[in-house]
Amino acid sequence: MAVAGPSIVSREPFPERGLGQGWIQRAAESVFSVLFPSDCRLCAAPLLNISRLPVCPDCLEQIQAIRGKVCSVCGDRVLSSYAIDDASGLRLCPVCRRVERPFERAVAYGSYDGGLRELIHLLKFNGVRPAAGVLGRMLAESIAAIDASFEQATVLVIPVPLFKGKRHQRGFNQAESIARAALRHLDGERLQLRNDILLRMRDTHSQIGLTSHQRRENMRGAFQVAGSAAVAGREVLVVDDVYTTGTTVSECARVLRRAGAARVWVATVARTMKLASKYAEVGIDEVNVAETA
Ligand SMILES: [Zn+2]
Ligand SMILES: [Zn+2]
Repeated sequence: MAVAGPSIVSREPFPERGLGQGWIQRAAESVFSVLFPSDCRLCAAPLLNISRLPVCPDCLEQIQAIRGKVCSVCGDRVLSSYAIDDASGLRLCPVCRRVERPFERAVAYGSYDGGLRELIHLLKFNGVRPAAGVLGRMLAESIAAIDASFEQATVLVIPVPLFKGKRHQRGFNQAESIARAALRHLDGERLQLRNDILLRMRDTHSQIGLTSHQRRENMRGAFQVAGSAAVAGREVLVVDDVYTTGTTVSECARVLRRAGAARVWVATVARTMKLASKYAEVGIDEVNVAETA
């Protein structure tokens, strides 16, 4: 008479055992990191309180909103010599004086450096999802600053989409996570999140080191509007984590305008304040050439 099974099973190596244990270990580690304070991911100081966001209050406090004079259209810093408001009360940077942007205004909460840059990287590249909550609160402040300029009763909030493959790899779209977090602090009836209108048709290469012309080429055909009926005549707010060269949000705005959007606004959590340093290095004319070629 045969002896029942367990001994046979135990003699055989269990092929998926390593995988199974790895999963349990990962789960245990994530529970551990949620329940027990670790070190601040920005300054490495030990965290005293249990928080889902592994960043200390000091580091968060150091993240400040942009101060000083900025361009009324693109939000870049303007030198005091350029900080003269024109007849319509607008203060334009040298680039916006020459080039018409496809959006009404782009606003950002903070400069893309220091702690804010690191916080965005924690979300995007380290998958620290709770960072979206803090970033969303900052984004909400930027949106509130232009809210009075919206003309329509409802505004479509459209996060810059990721290409399908990248979204799958990351597991989420950071722009959408931040937008959702921001809307919790704003009028949810007036601002309506839509992630089904703007589609990313392909991934785009890094924009770093490209000329403005190459950046436009790089973006060509990257976005498409699904169902123009949804945006025709509507006011739209495009949301992203960072405004660097502005090429991505400008292309989104262009595509949305072509699909019939009445007006497009842009709000990001952070922005590179590139002109401030460029002014110091090169003449203003060179800045113009670089930006508008
Ligand atoms: Zn810290
Ligand atoms: Zn400008």
